[in-house]
Amino acid sequence: MSRHSIVIVGEGGVGKSCLTLQFVHGKFAESYDPTVEDSYRKQVTVDKKQAMLDICDTAGQEMYAAYQDQYYKSGNGFIIVYNVTDRMTFERIKSYRDRIIRAKNSEEIDAKTKKAMGLEPDQDIIPPMVVVGNKIDLDNSRQVSTQEGQNMSKELGIPFFEASAKTNVNVTESFIELVRQIRKTGGVL
Ligand code: GDP
Ligand code: MG
Repeated sequence: MSRHSIVIVGEGGVGKSCLTLQFVHGKFAESYDPTVEDSYRKQVTVDKKQAMLDICDTAGQEMYAAYQDQYYKSGNGFIIVYNVTDRMTFERIKSYRDRIIRAKNSEEIDAKTKKAMGLEPDQDIIPPMVVVGNKIDLDNSRQVSTQEGQNMSKELGIPFFEASAKTNVNVTESFIELVRQIRKTGGVL
């Protein structure tokens, strides 16, 4: 069975832990220690093929760039989360994406790998990513519209879902889409 390492990133409080726990355990954890970072394992069947997912729910290491890059390097796929009720978290999406691309395009990816992927040596590999706009159950407090999310997704070329960890909307779908994205790269990253 293939094994994929998935890293959940995004600003503090956007719901990374709740999305992860909803996906792994099928429950909404009302409060989860924001400083705790944890790993989970879950087996899934996507398009009739099984995969083992190692999920890393990152927490509060925004200050430690080097530490963060270690995670980014180890991930095969990434879920970048923002909170639809907090515009600042939406505005940070692009910088998370850029950090992930930088981390995955470091020295050790050689020209041969890029060639195998149909890329020129100076072209960046775009790692598998999915963007999730969480907390859509809080519709009255929305600061980021669905349309804005879709425009960002189009501009960055990353699949996008609006979700709620609380009411369990599009949680599984987001992870499944990421598995599909990972498979498309043929496990090179
Ligand atoms: P993290 O710091 O990104 O891991 O965020 P958490 O998962 O700890 O969630 C931060 C806060 O947002 C907690 O109080 C959660 O209960 C709440 N929360 C997370 N997801 C949702 C959601 O989909 N809807 C609502 N209403 N609250 C959420
Ligand atoms: Mg957390």
